[in-house]
Amino acid sequence: MVHNHVAIVYYFKATREYQFLSQADIIHAHDNIKTDLNKYALTTVFCELIDRTELEQANPYLFQILIDVLNGIDRTTQNGNSYYFWFLLRFLKINGFTPDLARCKICQTDSPQEQVRFSLVNGSFSCNKCSQQEPTAVTAAAATIFYLRKLQAVSIKNVESIPIAAERECEMLLIAFLQYHIEETKYLKSIKFRNQVSIRNVVSRDAKK
Ligand SMILES: [Zn+2]
Repeated sequence: MVHNHVAIVYYFKATREYQFLSQADIIHAHDNIKTDLNKYALTTVFCELIDRTELEQANPYLFQILIDVLNGIDRTTQNGNSYYFWFLLRFLKINGFTPDLARCKICQTDSPQEQVRFSLVNGSFSCNKCSQQEPTAVTAAAATIFYLRKLQAVSIKNVESIPIAAERECEMLLIAFLQYHIEETKYLKSIKFRNQVSIRNVVSRDAKK
């Protein structure tokens, strides 16, 4: 998969099975993504997610956020994970599954302590005082909820201004929630690839210690 942003011009004729491409210009080649395996793996997830869940009509907003995250990840000197989480939150929202991270769904506190139980079926959490038992609930640190809540509220320009927290847990929670609700996302090769790359990163980081 090559992540070039291209402009194409073609002449559409409904009776023709293949269309004639008259022009293709590369707008942005994203060279840093191509040379960084972690960044490459993240952007592969975006492209496959969009490809697998594509609707018949074009979605200009989704296309724009894809371009924005590709540019953000290409430019960042960080590992790109914050853009990854930001994109997953937006993608969930577009598909009608915005997680409710504002407050405990039982006692309404907006500042839970230590750990929460996040319900995959409801997309909301209960704090450790209420800690509702529910078969699809997963345990997450309160810090993970605070981080994702902030990330959900910012535009892409401010993604890097929020200190990143509990990266592995953010990813597990968002992917579990996504896969619980959107059938097509359960079998993405790119998510498997991304996991292999991130395990490799952890192993090589530990080896350097
Ligand atoms: Zn509560």
